[in-house]
Amino acid sequence: MSTHQAEDLATFMEGVQRRNPGEPEFHQAVHEVAMDIIPYISDKPIYKDLKILERMTEPDRIISFRVVWQDDSGDIRVNRGYRVQQNNAIGPYKGGIRFHPTVTQSVLKFLAFEQVFKNSLTGLPMGGGKGGADFNPKGKSDLEVMRFCQAFMTELAKHIGPDTDVPAGDIGVGAREVGYMFGQYKRLENRFEGVLTGKALEFGGSLIRTEATGYGAVYMMQDMLTHHGESIDGKVCVVSGSGNVATYCAEKLLQLGAKVVTLSDSSGFVYDEEGFTHEKLQWVMDLKNKRRGRIEEYAHEFGAKYHEGEEPWGVPCDLAFPCATQNEIDGEEAKLLINNGCRGISEGANMPTTPEAIKVIQDFPALLHAPSKAANAGGVGVSGLEMSQNSLRLSWTREEVDERLRAIIRGIHDQCVEFGTTSEGHVDYFRGANIAGFNKVASAMLAYGV
Ligand code: GLU
Repeated sequence: MSTHQAEDLATFMEGVQRRNPGEPEFHQAVHEVAMDIIPYISDKPIYKDLKILERMTEPDRIISFRVVWQDDSGDIRVNRGYRVQQNNAIGPYKGGIRFHPTVTQSVLKFLAFEQVFKNSLTGLPMGGGKGGADFNPKGKSDLEVMRFCQAFMTELAKHIGPDTDVPAGDIGVGAREVGYMFGQYKRLENRFEGVLTGKALEFGGSLIRTEATGYGAVYMMQDMLTHHGESIDGKVCVVSGSGNVATYCAEKLLQLGAKVVTLSDSSGFVYDEEGFTHEKLQWVMDLKNKRRGRIEEYAHEFGAKYHEGEEPWGVPCDLAFPCATQNEIDGEEAKLLINNGCRGISEGANMPTTPEAIKVIQDFPALLHAPSKAANAGGVGVSGLEMSQNSLRLSWTREEVDERLRAIIRGIHDQCVEFGTTSEGHVDYFRGANIAGFNKVASAMLAYGV
């Protein structure tokens, strides 16, 4: 980056910080994009003159609302719900809903901003949005979750629609919550339409949607390795998380002949030196989905090591798949991965590497590093396919959806290579994803005028 571009970046970020005070996650996500886009548009005055990047950082609108519900003991509870409608230049707003105590406007704005680029990369006509609430489903009864979802949708229903805004799941929102929200929407609007994705198969869901984010993260790694003349077969893999993304990432890795040695949750990680098998993974899926248990139980069941309060990045591995949450790999952990010989990182979670970690990795370009907007786009990609199936009033087979998912990820990989290959011949997957994601949305915004 030239001195002039660095000054432009600093001025731009000062503006973002001034307009969005106290929103560190949002600043971080914007900075990660602006680092690549500001040099890219430095010789494209039309983008600068029409303030395309500034406009992209300002959500079209943020809806914030009160969610009132009754818990099992009869007490009234109040939470705050949000929907950030970030950008609909290339299609209806699209993105998940997160229920987690760490949800703030800043977190949802970072996720909505990322979603715009991610959705653009899929090649499908989807804009970007995100929603959620600081509600913690952990420890709540099924009826409490149902009442919360219904109260949340009672307000959200006014702002969404199959051609307006199509929410889906994210952390804390799976098939159960999508079912409750879809049911409430249907009751209120008296219409059966594809207004949410991640639905169960019986009422318009798509095959492979549950698996898609995890599978996509592995397909992206597979494409990066193939591009560099290598394969996943025989590689030792460290995976964090134990939800849908992590477990289906592990499943696809096993199918491709890799050895998976860790999974984690917010309390710690398990290290299984022998490696996970399909049976052990199924046990974890049941533990999490049916019993909502802790990963520690895995260690007792299978005699693996449990590391309380720790993350798995110190475990020697060939490939790392952060599939838990944002900022889970910091600078020191990135150094650990590199020093232990890690060859590639594919980000299943959204923005799991801190700016310091990205800096460390950038100084070591031999490490293949797929950013979340590329690596976890399989989830929203199959959501897009669910929307297509709903509009067509039909369901594609498992093979058909998987093939399309494969093609979406290959398309993303190829765009990263096209826009991210450096003068030294390395592929900077972050730069490639940012520029390719930006181009499509920016062209649409130019076409619409101001
Ligand atoms: N929450 C997922 C994501 O971060 C999926 C969104 C969707 O399917 O709309 O991309």
